[in-house]
Amino acid sequence: MQCPGCKTIYVPRANYCSTCGRSFTGDGEDVQEAMGKDVLDNPELVRKLLNELIEEKKRKGEL
Ligand SMILES: [Zn+2]
Repeated sequence: MQCPGCKTIYVPRANYCSTCGRSFTGDGEDVQEAMGKDVLDNPELVRKLLNELIEEKKRKGEL
């Protein structure tokens, strides 16, 4: 597939253009989708984010 913005050629499963940032799938949600993919690829990242969330809640006295 080809980016409509900068004409860079990408593999079909790309969600957005890493050259100009244009979305291939629509507006808004694809960034979250891409982030979700990153998370699936990095279980360690998920754990780290969860720990940060828990620590923050502890600091606020919510836990
Ligand atoms: Zn582009």
